[in-house]
Parts: sequence; C-alpha cells; structure tokens
Amino acid sequence: MAISRRDALKYSTILAASTAMAGSTNTSNPKVIKSNNKARIADTNKPRVVVVGGGWSGLSVAKYTKIFAPNSDVILVEQRHEFISCPMSNLWLVDKINLEYLTHDYLQAARNNNYTYFQATATGLDKTNNILHTSNGDINYDYIIFACGIDYDYSRWTNDIAFETRLRQDYPAGFIPGSEHITLKNKIKNFKGGNFILTVPSGNYRCLPAPYERACIIADYFKSKKLDAKVILLDENNTVTIKKKGFESAFNELHGDYIDYQVNTKILNIDLDKKVVTTEFDDIEFEDAAFYPHVRGARILEFAGIAKDAKNMLEGDINPLTYEVNGYNNIFISGDSRPMGFSKSGNTANSEGHFVAKLIASKVNKTAPIKWESPTTTCFSCVSLNPERDIYIYSNYKYDKKSKSFSFTNTSSSEDWKKDGKVNADSVYKWADALYKDMFS
Ligand SMILES: Cc1cc2nc3c(=O)[nH]c(=O)nc-3n(C[C@H](O)[C@H](O)[C@H](O)COP(=O)(O)OP(=O)(O)OC[C@H]3O[C@@H](n4cnc5c(N)ncnc54)[C@H](O)[C@@H]3O)c2cc1C
Repeated sequence: MAISRRDALKYSTILAASTAMAGSTNTSNPKVIKSNNKARIADTNKPRVVVVGGGWSGLSVAKYTKIFAPNSDVILVEQRHEFISCPMSNLWLVDKINLEYLTHDYLQAARNNNYTYFQATATGLDKTNNILHTSNGDINYDYIIFACGIDYDYSRWTNDIAFETRLRQDYPAGFIPGSEHITLKNKIKNFKGGNFILTVPSGNYRCLPAPYERACIIADYFKSKKLDAKVILLDENNTVTIKKKGFESAFNELHGDYIDYQVNTKILNIDLDKKVVTTEFDDIEFEDAAFYPHVRGARILEFAGIAKDAKNMLEGDINPLTYEVNGYNNIFISGDSRPMGFSKSGNTANSEGHFVAKLIASKVNKTAPIKWESPTTTCFSCVSLNPERDIYIYSNYKYDKKSKSFSFTNTSSSEDWKKDGKVNADSVYKWADALYKDMFS
C-alpha cells in the first residue's frame, strides 16, 4: 500500500506524540506541572473586599461596596454557576412563572457593577494571614464578608446519616434553590392523589410564610386537577408564625377541603418504607412529602471558625450592630447566617447588604464609622392561584440597648385577601423585578 506524503506526515506526528507520551510514563523522574494554591485572580494594589456567597445579601454587598468604595477590588466568590431565586419559586412550582424569571446571570451582575465573579466553594479561612481557601485556590483579602445563607439541621429528627441522606434526596425541603425545587415541582406535577405532607420547623427558619404559601398553592393546584388529595401541613409551632389572619382565613375559606393544618405537631418518627409519619398525636400515611427540617447557619461558618453554638443554630458569631465577627474588625457576616432574630428573608438580606456595604466602604475609605440602620422586611405570599391573591407584611427593627435585643417596629400588613389580594398579587411582580434589578443591573 502506497502512503501519500500527507499520510506520512500525519503518521510521523502521531508517532512523535506517542513516543513522547511513552517516554513520560517510563521516566523515573516525571515532569510534574506545579501550580501554587493561589486562585487565578489578578492582584491589584487596591484594598480587596471578598464577598463569599452570591445570594440576596452577598450580591447587594458586592454591588454597593464597589459603588460606595470605587477604589476597592471586590471579588464575589460563589459556588453556583447561576443564580436561581427562592422568592417567587412557589409560583414556579405550578407554572405561574417560568424558570427564566427566577434565573439570573452572575457574569452580568459582575460586569454591570465592576466587580469580579469567581466561581468556587469556600472551604476554610486563615484569619491570621487573611486568606480564604476555596475549591479553586486561595484568595487573600483585606476585608471579607460571609453571606452564605443556611444549611439544614436534620439532627432533631435523626442522627442516622444514611436515613438523613434519604430524606435529603427523596423528600427534599425545597428551601435551598436548584435541584430540590425541581424535585418538588415534579412531585407536585406527578401526584395522583392521597396525602402530601409538608412540615414547618420551629425556631427562626428560612422564610416564615413560605411553607404556608406553598400549602395554599399546592392545594389550589390539586383542586384544579380535581385530585382526591390532601395537603397535610404539620407545624411544630403552636400557631401560624406570620400573617396569621390572612393564612388562617385562606385555609378555612379557600382550602378547607384540601388543607389539613395541624399545629403543635412534633414528628417522632418517619418510616420511609411504610410511608408513615408518627407524631405525638397520630400515625399519618402519606403518598409524597417535602420534609422541612430545622435550619442552621451555613456550614462554612463552622469550618471558618466564625460560628457560635447558640440554641444549636450555629449562626455567625458577630456584633449585631457592626456585623463584625467578634475579635476581628475585617470579617463580617450578613443575610440568613446572622444570629439576630430578623426574618430570614430575601428583602431583609438584601437591605442588610446595602448597609453592610456602607460599613465596609467606610473602613476602606477610612471615613467615620457609621451607625446601625435597620433592615427592611417586605414579603408577599400567594394564598390563591385563580384568581391570584396575595397577602403582605412590612416591618423594620429597633434595638433595645438595655436588653441588647431587637424587636419589630413600623410593622404594617395587608392580610385581607378579599379586599386587597389583587393589588398585592400585582405588586409581588413589581417587587421581584425591582429586587432582581437591584442585584443584577
Ligand atoms: C420557597 C421560598 C420562598 C421564599 N420567598 C421569599 C419571599 O417571597 N420574599 C423574601 O424576601 N424572601 C423569601 N425567601 C427567603 C429568601 O430566599 C432567603 O431569605 C434569602 O435567599 C437569604 O439570602 P442570603 O443571601 O442570606 O442567602 P442565599 O440567598 O441562600 O445565598 C447564599 C449563597 O451563598 C452560597 N454559598 C453557601 N456556601 C458557600 C460556600 N462555602 N462557598 C461559596 N458559596 C457559598 C450559596 O450557593 C448561595 O448562593 C424564600 C425562600 C424560599 C426557600
């Protein structure tokens, strides 16, 4: 067989490559490509502010730190590749909105606001040398803020890791966005009838109204499909924890035939094989469920040595007025990981982010320290899908120096869904548009 000149060249290239490879495997001193652990982020001579966590708080800290301290080098370290919103996601479960509405672009946020988005998971903190360890290398910082949200704490239900894994995987709570929400949506869509269990933990759990809103939305959806079904809402608390009037009237007047709301209900056992939940009062069979366990501060706080073990919440160990980690004036924590009893909600986390950005900017700019400002809690909840009706609450917080604690102030609510439900339902889209714009534009 004749070999053309082109083939000869091709074969000689392959031969050369394979010889080189064979050589490299056979050598007793293989050439190791060395890279140090430094993240591939260009150094500048500007003060560096690292924001860990690109959620509702971290995105506003990153944006507004750069606005208030333009001379800073702001790096947002986020483990996710894209942002998916928890707020509004209950409406997505039943196709009131599409996934694009919830999904946003970290690259765009960084471009628009002159900071750097660095995709990585933070794994530890060297507080002495000001170094953040991440899955993509080490990052040095002058100031760092952890806005990493929550993790789940299953320990009050079980210490059996295999069982916990089954709960996480087969019956996710749907309170951390991404796959959990998609699983939940598929459960709802594929439900054929019977009992669908939702739970409400005690303590300061993420988004107080969301489990009640979810119950209303799922009940409405099952009704529209004419399913012989019940949403069983097992609440550890002795009453609805927020917007009580609005939710109770919705349960009674709109969803009495589809929602079975049980208060003061501690779960004693969950048998996933027999599909039975045992409470202090009853054994309840279920066809499907989403079990929402207690929450705690994000685990990275523990790995970084900046969590405190109060009431098993493992939230940030900070001065509640300055957000500084105790003992360090260049490390901060905000958002749902904070220990203050503020509502663990997106609006609260976002408005707090604005304030923390001012605090950090005052340090970077070496200007006078600024005084504590209250976050703002604004929250809409859907109680009916067709027609769409919402209830609403607004609140700030005030600090009592004597008791060193916070309480609600300027609180107002609109819970009469018959009278104000339509205006509220229209407003929720305006609210979400404004907040997405605030974080990404
Ligand atoms: C179903 C549902 C409905 C809700 N509805 C509303 C509503 O209507 N209104 C409202 O105001 N709030 C609502 N919330 C609450 C709101 O979503 C949260 O309170 C808010 O997201 C908290 O913001 P955050 O920045 O503290 O945490 P998050 O938004 O959770 O952000 C934390 C970020 O940190 C990242 N992260 C964590 N660990 C690491 C690590 N080690 N390295 C790198 N990155 C890390 C995470 O990936 C995440 O992006 C709702 C929540 C749910 C679940």
